[in-house]
Amino acid sequence: MILSDILPADIPTGEGPSLFDVLDPATEDIIARVQDTTEAEWDDALGRAVEAQKAWSAFTPRQRAEVLRAVFDELIRRTDDFARTMTLEMGKPLAEARGELAYGAEYFRWFSEEAVRLPGRVSPAPAGNGDILVTRAPVGPVLAITPWNFPLAMAARKIAPAMAAGCPVLVKPAAETPLTMLLTGKVIADIVEQAGGPRDLVQILPATDAAGMSSHLMADPRLRKVTFTGSTGVGKLLVRQAADNLLRTSMELGGNAPFVVNEDADLDLVLTCAMQAKMRNGGEACIAANRFLVHEAVAEEFTRRLTEQMAAVQFGHGLEEGITLGPVITAKQRDRIASLVDDTRAAGATVHCGGEVPERKGYFYPATVLSDVPADSRILREEIFGPVATVTTFRTLDEGIALANDTEFGLAAYGFSENVGVCRRFATELHAGMVGINRGAISDAAAPFGGVKQSGFGREGGVEGIEEYLDVRYVAL
Ligand code: NAD
Repeated sequence: MILSDILPADIPTGEGPSLFDVLDPATEDIIARVQDTTEAEWDDALGRAVEAQKAWSAFTPRQRAEVLRAVFDELIRRTDDFARTMTLEMGKPLAEARGELAYGAEYFRWFSEEAVRLPGRVSPAPAGNGDILVTRAPVGPVLAITPWNFPLAMAARKIAPAMAAGCPVLVKPAAETPLTMLLTGKVIADIVEQAGGPRDLVQILPATDAAGMSSHLMADPRLRKVTFTGSTGVGKLLVRQAADNLLRTSMELGGNAPFVVNEDADLDLVLTCAMQAKMRNGGEACIAANRFLVHEAVAEEFTRRLTEQMAAVQFGHGLEEGITLGPVITAKQRDRIASLVDDTRAAGATVHCGGEVPERKGYFYPATVLSDVPADSRILREEIFGPVATVTTFRTLDEGIALANDTEFGLAAYGFSENVGVCRRFATELHAGMVGINRGAISDAAAPFGGVKQSGFGREGGVEGIEEYLDVRYVAL
């Protein structure tokens, strides 16, 4: 049931007795009611996924590629519909929602190009008694569980390679932001069906009982893979559950990205990249810069200039002109961010701007800069996931790199210097799955996205991304 006249009318929200509310986090108004799925529907969906895989296997790689390309084209054609939906349910400013649409759609284009290049090899057996043929086969039905921060892109990174590899997908979107994915599911189903394929290849299953749904489906031997983007705690739980049926897993988990500024860095470039790395998606990004680590020679100027830019950030409803920061997703997240800042201030940190919850409707938190942060502060250990920057100084590059690596996470890291030797040290010594060097924006459908340590395993995008949905098969010929 669509309640807001700004949302596209064709979002299939479902009908039935158990509806749950979707809110606009900027106004706290209900914008839609979505049908919760039941255990019987999960079972039914998995059965239909198994049938869909059989029908999809009749499609040649070229035909699959053409379907994926058509999905890309349709998403781009409907940019405005998707962008408004994302802004309304998630809060991000409209320009950023358009950016997410372009980025998320790109995974369908990229994997349409990869669908016709599945890897394989032939080599002679050393004993000379035959050939070793190595091919790939689709893993089988996939459960994809996604977070609310990028309602399209986090699922697109899973759906597109799975389709290209030949796998059906059940998607469980975050209960805060199911609308974007329901619309995506409809777009995909229509295109697959028009091409003569199975409408159930990609099914969207909103569920408020996320734990119940995932444990139920993962206990069913017909499911073969779980791919998850979300918090490290839930990721660990899913890996444990996956053990029983030895499911393939991909885990894109939390981060605590360091942003290291050496004394010889180009500060104009640093400031542009700092704002990108911190404020993209209002800081609600797993690769958001969490800790600015700045050489003492440039720390004062960096902090002054960062504060000027952060203080100029306008927060408000993402559909309004001139707004560059939307609300955070829920009151709970807003209160968590506020408590991180309050604890740090109480421990003696300096607040350069922001730092107070505004008195207005909506879950807003202002852009905030903190320095003199005690080394043992919670804010340096935990993912902030909001528009708050902390600045810590270092004296030597060794100390800066050691501080950067002093975290259990290892998703993204950023390093800034004009010296090629220092850049090389960043590239080799920062412990992260992704390292940006003199770059504040690193996501790219053509590059492998993923982490090390407590940030998980598996890669999304690049030529690596499709391997997550393929099993290796050796044929002795
Ligand atoms: P979350 O772990 O609470 O929720 C993510 C998804 O998991 C949601 O769909 C939720 O309904 C579901 N879920 C929650 N509990 C579950 C359970 N017990 N069993 C099965 N599913 C369950 O995370 P969140 O707060 O929505 O998202 C923020 C987190 O996601 C951050 O830690 C962020 O770093 C991480 N993230 C990581 C990446 C990445 O690529 N590494 C990208 C975006 C976000």
